[in-house]
Amino acid sequence: MKAIHSGVCVECRARLHPIAEKLRLSPIARAILEHPQRTIGVSIPLTMDNGSIRVFDGFRVQYNDALGPTKGGIRYHEGVGEDEVKELAFLMTIKNSLAGLPYGGGKGGITVNPKELSQNELERLTRGFVRALGTTVGPYTDVPAPDVNTTPEMMGWFADEYAKVVGKPMPAVVTGKPVDKGGSRGRDVATGLGGAYILDQYAVQEGWKPTECKVAIQGFGNVGGHIAHLLVERGYTVVAVSNSRGGVYRDTGFSAHELLEAQKNKTLPTGEEKTNADILTLPVQILIPAALSDQITRDNANDIQAKLVLEMANAPTSVEADAILFDRGIKVVPDILANSGGVIVSYFEWVQNLQGESWSEEDVAKKLKEKMTTAFGAVMARAQKDAVDMRTASYFIAIERVLEAEKKRGRV
Ligand code: NAD
Repeated sequence: MKAIHSGVCVECRARLHPIAEKLRLSPIARAILEHPQRTIGVSIPLTMDNGSIRVFDGFRVQYNDALGPTKGGIRYHEGVGEDEVKELAFLMTIKNSLAGLPYGGGKGGITVNPKELSQNELERLTRGFVRALGTTVGPYTDVPAPDVNTTPEMMGWFADEYAKVVGKPMPAVVTGKPVDKGGSRGRDVATGLGGAYILDQYAVQEGWKPTECKVAIQGFGNVGGHIAHLLVERGYTVVAVSNSRGGVYRDTGFSAHELLEAQKNKTLPTGEEKTNADILTLPVQILIPAALSDQITRDNANDIQAKLVLEMANAPTSVEADAILFDRGIKVVPDILANSGGVIVSYFEWVQNLQGESWSEEDVAKKLKEKMTTAFGAVMARAQKDAVDMRTASYFIAIERVLEAEKKRGRV
């Protein structure tokens, strides 16, 4: 294991600064929030299928554990580095706190292009990462999950290798496992379903009828694909969807069946072709970015026609674009609220593993709805009380909970 150290999280500092000012946080509270508690760096030497040796860098950041074991995904990507993992671990601290989960925030990753590795190499790499992390992760310390380019199958390898490390089965060390290896029913649709529950609440509050709302969705993968058909089933008209190759538009909307079929076949339904840039600026009521970060920027924020942006992707709106949308009266449901359904059902998986239970999909959906509705209600009430946008209200709630827990353990 490489040196374990803590460093300043530059991105987190930039995000936190205005919030800390508004909440008048003490210097020690700011210092705690701006620094990850623990950063772990590991080297993973791997014998490739052709006999050559490569050494991969892996990271795990346990940002803050005041509210409970740290929790967050592991991504496999060439761009993974210590700073990015710190930033994402900070965001998980905020997201988990806002969702009311008994978790702190964590994140991890390996600097690798997984497309260059065979399945066997990926399995050996994952198992090597688990051995290198050893007991720095565990059901009551730090609980990883899938993220970009990591799959339920990999989480199954993770749990299996961890059982060898500790000498006994401990499936609660990781979530997002296949259902037959201790995963939760409903995890695959959880993020999209959670977003649909938030939109249900928002529409009721605004007096919007789903049948009168047109929706455009950027990204048609796990999250975008599921929320697309869930919204059509609720009566919304989904007029546009897109993937990395471009988008399609149909003024009368796509049927739930067409969307489900297209998602299953990893294609798009048929319609008028549009670019991904066009998808963002269509005349719709609701815009759902569900692909990449930094899609709504100062370059296109003035062209957005939607009344509501439901952020299903992580960080799709830049800080400058946020301000422009706010000035134009366009509401934004922030990522840390809108896409928290995934980590909430991950929490349900952990609970089921620890209690030796296996819940039905209906049970999972019901419990997810309760959590999403509670979080949404708290954010709306706080936004109204303090006359701030939903993102600021979400940060206020999440940060106050973390600091209250820090106070109880005597750190602030
Ligand atoms: P995914 O890989 O299943 O799907 C991503 C989709 O985005 C694909 O359809 C892909 O073709 C499309 N895409 C890629 N580049 C694009 C581009 N330039 N323009 C338009 N579309 C593009 O990923 P996912 O799991 O659906 O995650 C989507 C987003 O949601 C990510 O930001 C992710 O971090 C976030 N998220 C996912 C979960 C989850 O449970 N899967 C939870 C929280 C947040």
